[in-house]
Amino acid sequence: MGLNKKELEKFFVSIDEKPFRAKQIIKWVHQRGVSSFSEMTDISKDLRTKLETVCVVEAPEVIYEKTSQDGTKKWVISVGNNDLIEMVLIPENNRATLCVSSQVGCAVDCSFCATGKQGFSRNLNLDEIIGQVWVAANSFGLPREPNSRNITNVVMMGMGEPLLNFNPVVDAMDLMMDDNAYGLSKRKVTLSTSGIVPKIDELAKVSDVSLTISLHAPNNELRDQLVPINKKYPIQELLDSVKRYVESCEDKRVTTIEYILIDGVNDSLELAEELADLLTQIPCKVNLIPFNPFSEVNYKKPSGNRVKRFQNYLQEKGYITTIRSTRGDDIMAACGQLVGQVNDKTRKKEREQNKARIETKTI
Ligand code: SAH
Ligand code: SF4
Repeated sequence: MGLNKKELEKFFVSIDEKPFRAKQIIKWVHQRGVSSFSEMTDISKDLRTKLETVCVVEAPEVIYEKTSQDGTKKWVISVGNNDLIEMVLIPENNRATLCVSSQVGCAVDCSFCATGKQGFSRNLNLDEIIGQVWVAANSFGLPREPNSRNITNVVMMGMGEPLLNFNPVVDAMDLMMDDNAYGLSKRKVTLSTSGIVPKIDELAKVSDVSLTISLHAPNNELRDQLVPINKKYPIQELLDSVKRYVESCEDKRVTTIEYILIDGVNDSLELAEELADLLTQIPCKVNLIPFNPFSEVNYKKPSGNRVKRFQNYLQEKGYITTIRSTRGDDIMAACGQLVGQVNDKTRKKEREQNKARIETKTI
C-alpha cells in the first residue's frame, strides 16, 4: 500500500517480473480489498509464493470505531509511536463521503481548530493515507465487488494540511481516481487547503482534483488572526494561485470557499459584504461552516439567524452558498474536532507529548 503505481512497476521489474503485475496487484488490493496473496488467482502460484515472502498488504491499525446517531462513522487509527489519526464517513442519501487525514496533527495552528491546537507530530505515508480509504471501503463488507462505489466522495479534510505533505497526498489521490483502484472522478476527490500558495501551483502541474480553500476571513487583518499561514501567503496571492489552478484544469471549475462562522468574530454583515466583493475575482461557491465548539477555545457557534443572515446576503449577491450541516458531533467527528481521540485521559497525555514536540518543530 505504500507504493504508487510507478514504484510498484519498478518493484516488479526488480524481481524479474513484467511491470503489468502492478496493475493486477492494485486491482486486487484496492478494487477488491484483498490482502492475502493466496487469493490473487490470476497471478501464478510461484509469484504468489514469492510475494508472500517479501511483501505484506497491511492497512493501518484501527483501534476504535464508533457510529454517531446520525449514521456518521468515525475511526481512530494508530500509526505507531502513540500517534493517532481519525477518519470520518458521512452517509447522506445516496452519497457517502469519506473525510481523510493527511498528517498527525497540524502545524498551521488555525485559532479555531482542535487539530491545530494539538500541534504537529508527523506526515502520514502513502499507505497510511490510502489505507484509510481501504479500511472504510472494506467496512461495507468483503469480498468487495469490483465496481462497488460504496464511497462516492473523498475529501482531504481530516487532520492535517494536505499540501504540506505533498507527494504522499498526490499519490493517494491518484489511487482514489485510478479506475483499477477506487475509480472516483476528479470532481469527487477534493483537496482542502488553508492556502499554501506555491504548493497550489505545484498541484496544478500534476493533478486536477477539486480544490477547496479555507478562507474564513475577507481581509488580511482578520485572516492573520484566524489562519496564521496568511501572514506568509496573504489573501490576494492565494486568490491569484486559485485563478491559476482553475485555468490549468481542462474543464470549467468552480472552487469552493470554506468560511467558518464564529459568533461575533467573522460573521457580521459588513464582512459578508467584503467577502462578496473579494470573491468576484474567481468562479466559486461558498460553504459556510458554523463553528463546532471544543474545550480549548472560547469561540462560540453563531445563532441560526446570524448564519442565515450571512448566507442570505451572499445569495443575494449571486453566490451559491450552502451551510454545512453538523454531522457526528456527538462522537466528536465534526469538522475541526478531530484529534485522534480515544478517551480523555489518552487525549490529555497525547496533547502534552505533542506540545513538547511542537516546540522543536516548525512548518
Ligand atoms: N487543513 C485543511 C484541511 C483540513 S481542515 C484546511 O484547513 O483546509 C477541514 C475544514 O474544517 C476546514 O475548512 C476547517 O476550516 C474546518 N474546521 C476546522 N476547525 C473547525 C471547527 N472548530 N468548526 C468547524 N469547522 C472547522
Ligand atoms: Fe490545520 Fe486545517 Fe486545522 Fe488549520 S483548519 S489547523 S490548516 S487542519
